[in-house]
Amino acid sequence: MISVHDHTGLNALARRCRVDPFLVRRFRTAFHKKQFTAADALKELPSEALPLFSREVDFHPLTLATRQDSQADGATKLLFRTRTGELIESVILRIASGRTSLCVSTQAGCAAACAFCATGTLGLSRNLGAAEILDQVTQANLLLQPEGRQVRNLVFMGMGEPFHNEAELFRALDLLAAPEGLHLDPRRMLVSTVGIPDAMVRAAKRFPRLRLALSLHSARADVRERLIPVARRHSLGALREALLQAAALQGELPMIEYLLLRDVNDTAADVLALGEFLRGMKAHINLIPYNAIHGPAPFGATDPARRAEFAAALREQGFTVTTRYSLGADIAAACGQLARVTAGQTPPPIPATA
Ligand code: SAH
Repeated sequence: MISVHDHTGLNALARRCRVDPFLVRRFRTAFHKKQFTAADALKELPSEALPLFSREVDFHPLTLATRQDSQADGATKLLFRTRTGELIESVILRIASGRTSLCVSTQAGCAAACAFCATGTLGLSRNLGAAEILDQVTQANLLLQPEGRQVRNLVFMGMGEPFHNEAELFRALDLLAAPEGLHLDPRRMLVSTVGIPDAMVRAAKRFPRLRLALSLHSARADVRERLIPVARRHSLGALREALLQAAALQGELPMIEYLLLRDVNDTAADVLALGEFLRGMKAHINLIPYNAIHGPAPFGATDPARRAEFAAALREQGFTVTTRYSLGADIAAACGQLARVTAGQTPPPIPATA
């Protein structure tokens, strides 16, 4: 089968049935840009091409298993099954401003095993292919059609560490940005990483307009390593260097994400360390309130008063500080809660070793 995203493959198909490439372009536009269903997009092709295209083109590598709509806000969690049986999740975020964002997964599970994240308890099943990453967007768009909405922004903050699947992530980004594909401006795409310095720089070089975000969560090495095991392999010094290089390539510093955990990384010493780490940088710090996850909860959320103090101390040092309020907490669709379980089900056991 040839993926509907594989333009070279589609053109080869067109040659096989001697169809004008212009008509294939019309078919692609109908599917990728006008959000036609597969059946309707096929109707854009001349009849002699139909049998071959319907047989050979793979439109949807994912099957939608369940859809849950938040009763509290504008989030919809989509649970997809891959052909090989893994379950992955995407979250539609209808932002109050009227925009629609989609949070996509890049892996089934995740190998990073961050102490505060539900996905981290799963371990990694496998990397998703570019077509599987893109199909999350295609299917979300089809679901949003009756609402007159379309995915406008993409955040790579679903399951997985995007830079642990760099090749397929980059392929997906190329295809998303391609004029003959969805034609999404990379400015509207944000890749969040646990912090893989070399990959951050490669991404900044290859996609100068792509937005990057670093899940820093602590500027104290011991605390960060406890929260994010991957941090043992990538020092704070290396991360700082990567931030500066990315800023030089993109003209903008990657966003700094900071998950606030009560008494763990929200003390005066933590503000001090963070200010020190970011000294001289034009940083935008996005504070993330902790979302409770299933299982023994070793972490608590920083209370709003302390969060305000934390933010004020950073602003005093000249940094831009915002707070990210997650949507979808009632359907376990908020940051860190994606773990292929639907609300009300028993979550998978947390493995003893990470
Ligand atoms: N692997 C990537 C992207 C996935 S998570 C990364 O680490 O950045 C997206 C964001 O949600 C990250 O900043 C992550 O640290 C944060 N997050 C994880 N668990 C969370 C939780 N329980 N509450 C709030 N945010 C969480």
